[in-house]
Amino acid sequence: MTQVTLIPGDGIGPEITEAVKAIFAAANVPVTWEEENAGQTTFDSIGELIPATLIASLEKNKVALKGPITTPVGKGFKSINVQLRQMFDLYSNVRPAKTTKGVNSRYENVNLVLFRENTEGLYAGLEMWDERLQISDSIARITRTGSEKIIRAAFEYAKKHGCKKVTVAHKANILKSAGALFLKVAGEIAKDYPEIQMEDKIIDNMCMQLVMKPEQFDVVVTTNLFGDILSDLCAGLVGGLGVVAGANIGDNMAIFEAVHGSAPDIAGKGIANPTALLRSAIMMLHHIDLKDEANRIEKALEATLANSAECTGDLGGKASTMEFAQNIIAKL
Ligand code: NAD
Repeated sequence: MTQVTLIPGDGIGPEITEAVKAIFAAANVPVTWEEENAGQTTFDSIGELIPATLIASLEKNKVALKGPITTPVGKGFKSINVQLRQMFDLYSNVRPAKTTKGVNSRYENVNLVLFRENTEGLYAGLEMWDERLQISDSIARITRTGSEKIIRAAFEYAKKHGCKKVTVAHKANILKSAGALFLKVAGEIAKDYPEIQMEDKIIDNMCMQLVMKPEQFDVVVTTNLFGDILSDLCAGLVGGLGVVAGANIGDNMAIFEAVHGSAPDIAGKGIANPTALLRSAIMMLHHIDLKDEANRIEKALEATLANSAECTGDLGGKASTMEFAQNIIAKL
């Protein structure tokens, strides 16, 4: 049995978490959940956004599944997602994007995985504000070590999954220092993987190519800000944030998460789509080497998605969150 920290989150978080738990139980997945929450819910009850008990649980289990978290708006509240990434050096943000039969999309045959550097770049927190001159500077810090880690993670993934190509998205033509360092490191690391083709694309062209011909991409790796934007763009290619998985992975810990928000407009109604969290949970099963369980649940999910009548309203069906889960369970 593997113990996993389960963070239900806020809003629709607990509802989609219950659906995932029910599917895991029905599939006899050898995982036990240690439930520890974060966010608005814990802030309201104990005045803490990230309780010490959650940190202890993460440090012990090293693997977590996380629902969406509401970050209270206002000064002094740093995003919980950002805090967790920095606290545990979860430098790889991994977002697969794949078209699925039955899920509405403008495209066919998209099957790519985006690796976004998660801790530095323009999000390094190096911001300065000069009140007198009314000038604000944000420094995009790129380090050799940080670049090596994310680029190697992308190549290792490509190698493990038999992918033929890694595309490096950058702006080295303009960002002569930071952008050039990232691209230089990519070229060096690519030499260790002669069986994989490396190509590089300037970020603006990359966006156009993704929209015009997304099926040409396999594994994509990029810096933090570009990756933040590309990851939602890629979600848009395959049906939106409600159906894509996400993971934040470091050397010693991994947090798998639904990338959509806590959807306060539909919270408590039992109609939220659990697909994104379930797909993140399937990624988690691959991470902890429970491949048979992962494949079995994925097949049942795909068969259910293929028939929109069995899905939630956002996918064109009439099922509640738990009915959708039961439809998946029936196919296990
Ligand atoms: P949102 O993703 O919560 O909602 C946007 C729209 O998508 C809403 O209409 C919502 O009903 C719908 N939606 C989202 N997930 C759905 C699902 N699983 N099934 C069906 N419909 C779904 O974005 P928002 O409204 O901008 O943000 C709400 C809160 O979520 C904010 O407090 C924000 O800080 C937080 N947030 C958290 C995360 C995270 O924890 N990863 C990500 C984004 C936003």
